[in-house]
Amino acid sequence: MKYFSTRGGSQLLSFEDTVLTGLAPNGGLYIPQNIPQLPSDWRTAWKDYSFVDLSVEVLSLYISHEEISRAELRALVEKSYKTFRHPDITPLKKLDDKTYILELFHGPTFAFKDVALQLLGNLFEFFLVRRNARQLVEGKQERLTVVGATSGDTGSAAIYGLRNKANISIFILHPKGRVSPIQEAQMTTVTDPNVHNLAVKGTFDDCQDIVKALFADHEFNKTHRLGAVNSINWARILAQTVYYFLSYFHLQAQVPTPDVEIQYVVPTGNFGDVLAGYYAKRMGLPIAKLVVATNSNDILARFWKSGAYEKLDSTTPAPAGDATQPAEGASDGKQAQVTGGVKETLSPAMDILVSSNFERLLWYLAYESVEVDPNAHDDTRRSKAGETVDGWMKLVKSDGRVQVPTSVLESARRDFIAERVSDDQTLDTIRAQFEAPVSYITDPHTAVGLTVARRVAQHNPPSTVQIVLSTAHPAKFSEAVTRALSTASAFDFERDVLPDEFKGLLERKRNVVDVEAPDVELVKRVIEKYAERPSVVQESGVSSGSV
Ligand SMILES: *Cc1c(COP(=O)(O)O)cnc(C)c1O
Repeated sequence: MKYFSTRGGSQLLSFEDTVLTGLAPNGGLYIPQNIPQLPSDWRTAWKDYSFVDLSVEVLSLYISHEEISRAELRALVEKSYKTFRHPDITPLKKLDDKTYILELFHGPTFAFKDVALQLLGNLFEFFLVRRNARQLVEGKQERLTVVGATSGDTGSAAIYGLRNKANISIFILHPKGRVSPIQEAQMTTVTDPNVHNLAVKGTFDDCQDIVKALFADHEFNKTHRLGAVNSINWARILAQTVYYFLSYFHLQAQVPTPDVEIQYVVPTGNFGDVLAGYYAKRMGLPIAKLVVATNSNDILARFWKSGAYEKLDSTTPAPAGDATQPAEGASDGKQAQVTGGVKETLSPAMDILVSSNFERLLWYLAYESVEVDPNAHDDTRRSKAGETVDGWMKLVKSDGRVQVPTSVLESARRDFIAERVSDDQTLDTIRAQFEAPVSYITDPHTAVGLTVARRVAQHNPPSTVQIVLSTAHPAKFSEAVTRALSTASAFDFERDVLPDEFKGLLERKRNVVDVEAPDVELVKRVIEKYAERPSVVQESGVSSGSV
């Protein structure tokens, strides 16, 4: 299996190069040459498979055995999911006859990104160790310096994915004092010598700008071989397809009738999680609909209403008589905070202006819409799809928007439904589910999904069952959960939510370097100092240095 860019070109990459490259040089995202189909006996043969067994089956359809043998793949997958606390890895919980929750937060940082990043870290290490073994004769050793900015969530999952990996250093920048105490502690209490936290005096945007400047600095980039672990990495999408299969089998084991229609409802930001479901569906998993749930950063919800993929920032007034609002009145109770066009919500991991992985879906939609001579070679059709996507993305860049043809919107609607949810509705849902017959406490991201599930269910045929993906443990977003349940007398945060792993976390040793100004030169100095050397960890909660 080879991979190519959504924006065309003749470049074909191996899985290894796809994973190590991340973003294609022409700005596109890599997608597989074709979507493999499930073996004809998958329903019976895979029925009792574990998460690890299913990972091996599904992943090996996308990775040539010459690149990673089945035995090597199994070892990588086993190692990746050993760090999870639940024997099912991603267990399915029943809320009521029509609604199930797929818990994706049993990894080391209590959020769904662990599912992908635990595997990605091991893949990086596997490739680098193998390359270095081959190059031993010439004495050249490849290293990777992963650099990223975080407002909290992704940073800790990346750190836990890459801690203690051979030939890799990781530098994560966060805005000092602007990350929730639990998330800051999750990142900075990791004391492996290859992990470096930089607390930058500035905002999250400052951190992001510094990271962009580092990647744009050719000299620096070449010297340190910078790498990214962001959500466009193909391996992350691939790892996430597995829980769609596992939950399908777990649901079959629980529902009385075998012919239910399954809807997956996915709290969505960068479109990575729900895109994995799209691949599972295209491979042959019987999914009736994929439901995209957004917060008030609703570029996707608006796309499925109008066919316009359009950035709306604070300077763009909402059109009068806004037809993009869902009928069920999703207007925010109060004006949401706006920074750089992104609205700050109670579900911050979904606060985005554009959804980077959406480009992959656009490619498939463009491909379907290409009108060609039926005898034309598939390559012709593919290259037309690449040109179309390239054109669309150029428009998004220059005009901030693109309007796709009606036929494209219609085909997007065959597989997906999309809805947006306000903060007030999110809080209402957390409260309602806590007080429901099956009392269950969701984090605010999951609550966005559950809100949409309830809304969509009103129009569902009786045979439909919904699986809502739960993307974070409620203890990670204590503020929203506590606010939602402040009037519930039966609720006690420490007793009902706080996991043992979080207790005492705030008092643990910290591994963090203070960066006194949002200055790229200061950050470079830290990277140069530590890239190949261990960092110093101090005894008390003080930082290990500052620049
Ligand atoms: C990243 C994240 C999401 C959004 O996932 P995408 O793949 O970016 O759509 C939702 N919830 C939580 C808790 C996350 O960390």
